Amino acid sequence: MKIQTCPNCGSNRYIKSGVVNNRQRYRCKSCDYYFSVNKIGKKIDDYYVNKALQLYLEGLTYREIERILGVSHVSIMNWVKKYNIKRPYNYDYHPTYKILNGSELSKYFQDLDNLSGAGFVVTELGDKFMLIKWERFRK
Ligand SMILES: [Zn+2]
Repeated sequence: MKIQTCPNCGSNRYIKSGVVNNRQRYRCKSCDYYFSVNKIGKKIDDYYVNKALQLYLEGLTYREIERILGVSHVSIMNWVKKYNIKRPYNYDYHPTYKILNGSELSKYFQDLDNLSGAGFVVTELGDKFMLIKWERFRK
């Protein structure tokens, strides 16, 4: 999975703008920021570290996070270790998740049946959104 967005504003509207030190340079059409390919790579790494740890804290397993982000579970385990992330274990419930685009997300929230008895965390994931749903109180 590859996410190509401006490191400054997150827009995916950018154009090629010359080559500097053998690296393709781009200019963001939204904010006029110049960036190179290497810089994008670094930003993607940080992005995945953040998202992976976020999901880990939400109670997802390494394998689930691997499936969602396309990052190896070994990397995720290393990040958890590196940043010393600990989560309290709770075996009573487990969140479910969906990957939706903007309009699917707004449709989802318009249906009251989806909302009752549940809590949500919505987080950006590339050009889509991830919705983590907690149904702890639904019996
Ligand atoms: Zn930008």
